[in-house]
Amino acid sequence: MARPTTGIFYHPSFSRRSYLTVGARLADFPGALDRILESDKVTLYEPEPVPRELLLKVHTSDLLERVGEDPLCSTAWHSAGGVVAAGEKIASGEITNAFAFIGAGGHHAGRERFGGFCCFNDVALCIVNLRDQFGLRRFAILDTDAHHADGTREIFQGDPDVLHICLCGTNFESKDGTKVDVACPGPFEGGENERAMNDAYFDLVARHAPHRISRFKPDLLFWYFGFDTHEGDYGDIGLTGPCYWKIAELMKELAEKTCGGKLEVVLGGGSDRRLATYLIPPIIERLAGLQRA
Ligand SMILES: [Zn+2]
Ligand SMILES: [Zn+2]
Repeated sequence: MARPTTGIFYHPSFSRRSYLTVGARLADFPGALDRILESDKVTLYEPEPVPRELLLKVHTSDLLERVGEDPLCSTAWHSAGGVVAAGEKIASGEITNAFAFIGAGGHHAGRERFGGFCCFNDVALCIVNLRDQFGLRRFAILDTDAHHADGTREIFQGDPDVLHICLCGTNFESKDGTKVDVACPGPFEGGENERAMNDAYFDLVARHAPHRISRFKPDLLFWYFGFDTHEGDYGDIGLTGPCYWKIAELMKELAEKTCGGKLEVVLGGGSDRRLATYLIPPIIERLAGLQRA
């Protein structure tokens, strides 16, 4: 068996002119990864644009045209390309898990509409491609972005082989148990201090995701990670670093138990440059099993 390694998917355009770089959130990358990249457990990949033929398996040609005309979506092709390539390299065994940076988001993009910082549905494209090219069939997605993943939900509505657990504003579970929404505590419900909020949120994840994912037995696991839930960001519910890092550890463990470690972390919302630089490298270190200095 190959030595477990972590792939990082990053394109320079994500730091220059991406949808979510209204605040240039990835301006410190890839430099912020320099120390991590010294490890032989980590490989940096620069993605190609996602092919049009694949896009047309998820989206209408009309959406493609409109995304093409929207200057805010200029990084959409490389963003989705990185998420798709990460899935391919995990499925082929070249890497065990991955962190995919993006310039334009994915989870609000449906078959024929896009918006909310999202252009193409990156995770949906990755799933369709893995089914077509690698024969993987069942996928579980944990979405901890602050907002409801309406696009992803729409695309996989009625697909019993996609377990979609979304932490957002409501509680919901489909009859077959594969589409789940978990209502998050508001910024003040969980307590006055950050520790209480982190604990309350992590507790929700721990209560709602692991048993469903273990029972579902996915071929590959996605964590759609937004940090817009961080204190001071645009979806602020009062979370701070340790909460995200604990979720990263939980997801890695869960992937190891259920699908041979096949985990893809896909970057979602969040706008603050200092937060991106502070939060993301420790997540990648956990994926790669690197000791924190
Ligand atoms: Zn969001
Ligand atoms: Zn939701």
